[in-house]
Amino acid sequence: ELANSNKEIASCVKAAVRVRPLSNNEQQNLCQTCVDVQRTTNEIILANSTAFTFDYVFLPETNQEDLYRECIYDMIEGCFQGYSASILAYGQTSSGKTFTMGSGIEYMEPSKEGILPRAIMHIFQRCTSYEHEAELKGITLSKCVVSCQFIEIYNENIYDLFNKENIDFRSQKNLDKHVVFENSNGEIAVTNITTRFVTTAQETLDCLREGALCRTTASTRMNSVSSRSHAIFTINLQFERIVSSTPDPNNIREQIRAKIHFVDLAGSESLKRTGATGQRAKEGISINSGLLVLGNVISILGDPMKKGAHVPYRDSKLTRLLQDSLGGNSRTLMIACISPVDRDFSETKSTLNYAQRAR
Ligand code: ADP
Ligand code: MG
Repeated sequence: ELANSNKEIASCVKAAVRVRPLSNNEQQNLCQTCVDVQRTTNEIILANSTAFTFDYVFLPETNQEDLYRECIYDMIEGCFQGYSASILAYGQTSSGKTFTMGSGIEYMEPSKEGILPRAIMHIFQRCTSYEHEAELKGITLSKCVVSCQFIEIYNENIYDLFNKENIDFRSQKNLDKHVVFENSNGEIAVTNITTRFVTTAQETLDCLREGALCRTTASTRMNSVSSRSHAIFTINLQFERIVSSTPDPNNIREQIRAKIHFVDLAGSESLKRTGATGQRAKEGISINSGLLVLGNVISILGDPMKKGAHVPYRDSKLTRLLQDSLGGNSRTLMIACISPVDRDFSETKSTLNYAQRAR
């Protein structure tokens, strides 16, 4: 019995690795590669010597649709069974995190859309078919309620990406405006964060785009803020479902809630301490803590031997915020994005080591 529940916990955290293709520039410069992908064994082989095994591995030529179908589709379906989910993109800057997650601004070509736009379409299709299904059975369910939030964590401060005024990073006045807390239902929430109630996929995509633009264009921000911050797009789902085999005919419906976090993490190079001083050093250290604590949390959740161990969710804003959607009844997928290029070898190696801890 114990073994079974351990297995359940272990399998709720999965790790995928995606290798990006060489850029045009890298091709022109005849860059050497040091990464091999073995789809049959789910292995990544680094420099012809070290093999790392993951739950999923993706080739440089794997397209967005195939990745979605292979590792995201079931997680979104699971949300309609009441399982919350967290999908995180990890990796050094330029390894493909934003491409994989999808920001809603960069790629107009539908085939190039990342996870987020696809998940948004999926969710609304599912809501519609769900309501329709119930209708066919002669049951009128209340409509699915969908809402979203979009925040950024930078330097252990939380910013609301739906509120342009609060994105001014030079202003210190609003630093304590957004605090993570646990409400009486045991749900994690953030104070003073904008919640957008959305009724169509298009409306949700517009929200995503608005926040993503806010993230990249806020005028007073330092250039590399987005590579040193975590962006978290959260979708809350609330709906009624039919409970089929209930003895009480008045009690045929049940309220279900699920939450999905889509996390575009800070570049993993910021996990390392550089020789920087002053503000730079301060940023480096606090970004360290988010990625560092996340690694610790995920390795505890993914290790059946550590069942019952203290999980240090409270040691960073990122993990505190994700607490009710990491572990427990939730499903977590860490997608490690890597560059195939030889000169990125050491970053790639540390990314693979990090992702390895998730399983
Ligand atoms: P990150 O968010 O990790 O800094 P990006 O997602 O911005 O990296 O990717 C860097 C560049 O590589 C972008 O121009 C992006 O279009 C391209 N790219 C990344 N992954 C892929 C991929 N799997 N297929 C095609 N192009 C990719
Ligand atoms: Mg990015």
